[in-house]
Amino acid sequence: MKVIAIDGPAGSGKSTVARRLAERLGLEYLDTGAMYRGVTFAALRRGIDPADPEPVAQLAKSVELEVADDHVRVDDVDASIEIRGPEVSRAVSLVAANPGVRSEMVRRQREWAAERGGGVIEGRDIGSVVFPDAVLKVYLSARPEVRAERRAAEVTDLDYETVAADMARRDALDQGRETAPLLQAAGAIELDTSDMTIDEIVADLAGRLPEPDEVTEPAEDTERAEDTEPSEGSGPTGAHEARSDTVRAAPVDVHPPTAIERTSYAAVRGLFLGLAKLFFRLEIRGREHVPAHGPFVLAPVHRSNLDFILVATVRRPRMRYMGKASIWKSALLGRFVSMLGAFPVHRGTADRESLRTCMRVIENGEPLVMFPEGTRRSGPVVKDLFDGPAYVAARAGVPLVPVGIGGSDRAMPVGSKMVRPHKIVLVVGEPIVPEPGDGTGRVKRREVRQMTERLQVDLQALYDAARAAAE
Ligand code: C5P
Repeated sequence: MKVIAIDGPAGSGKSTVARRLAERLGLEYLDTGAMYRGVTFAALRRGIDPADPEPVAQLAKSVELEVADDHVRVDDVDASIEIRGPEVSRAVSLVAANPGVRSEMVRRQREWAAERGGGVIEGRDIGSVVFPDAVLKVYLSARPEVRAERRAAEVTDLDYETVAADMARRDALDQGRETAPLLQAAGAIELDTSDMTIDEIVADLAGRLPEPDEVTEPAEDTERAEDTEPSEGSGPTGAHEARSDTVRAAPVDVHPPTAIERTSYAAVRGLFLGLAKLFFRLEIRGREHVPAHGPFVLAPVHRSNLDFILVATVRRPRMRYMGKASIWKSALLGRFVSMLGAFPVHRGTADRESLRTCMRVIENGEPLVMFPEGTRRSGPVVKDLFDGPAYVAARAGVPLVPVGIGGSDRAMPVGSKMVRPHKIVLVVGEPIVPEPGDGTGRVKRREVRQMTERLQVDLQALYDAARAAAE
């Protein structure tokens, strides 16, 4: 996990620097101050006294917080503006001193980072308490008058004196509190930003980052062997547009399902399966072709947004999918889709990164769903497949399982948000098994091409059969 921890008092430049650094590194950014502000906002809104430890700690556990780049939602209310207002600013340090609140926020922050494989995280205790093992820990400081000037420029409705006084009071509380006080963490570098521009600070910090650990790159070592990586286009793995100067993002967390995730998944899948049988008269053929043990790559046709969840019905345990990283910006939605098996693919980062994540999923023993058509297509013909699924299957030495889905485009047509009660039939085909590897972990371009050609023929036949059966 690649976490960059940025701590410091208000007005030290944390937020701007953290956001810019995250952009530069292709990582996501988390403002933990906004989380404490969100809890404070919720307490004030419900008439809970911020100084009353028990009810505030309880509230912290139950409140829904969505802290995104451009907005903060608290229990479904957009609180982006209010959390920066004077009432919240006055009460937040009290709430943040509450150990019950802190332990819950720390838990959520760690979960946020685990789901993304890291990120740039700013606050007061990130390097000291939340992520003591962060790859880079920074403590930003600035002269008090500079900090007050910066804050006063941000909050236009308050004068400099009020802002300076509020900040001094908040600093004293944050530094003096018992639990996780604001301090420079062991191993953190201190940077006085008083006389530096944002560009200078960001360049300085980026320069201090350790080189990313070199891992064996599927694409690189196959190139050396004059083999292949998946061919052209922004294929199913999403992000071929990356260039060599792209900074590599931290690895995505693809841990095997926890007991809770397994149970929740089983419940959601069971519910969907029941509904789909009733509503779509869902029928699944060829289920015996789904490998009973071990990982594989499931390669379905793609004609409808329903396909993602439909393919989950072919087997009981969870499979994994690639999802747009933006989904994880909402903590709640992110947690839900992670539980369903999705993991984030960061567009704009090297496509090899996505392939490496795919390989890790398989190494963990979970099957992976990859749509070989890349995006949702229309019409009866299966053509122009991407090499990604065959490449991953060949490289990992696991079967490639084709699936035709008939009727999903009628049950949920393109552009429609509603579903109709049209029959849906899934037909699973015989697995395509790659040739045994030569032990070098490399795959031959020719083999990947042949597997993809075979996949196309099989998918067409399965799709024809599924469509006919769904008529
Ligand atoms: O960063 P910001 O000024 O928005 O933070 C608001 C308050 O939240 C801080 O004054 C501090 O009391 C609290 N905080 C904290 N620990 C963090 C982040 C913020 O205690 N990691």
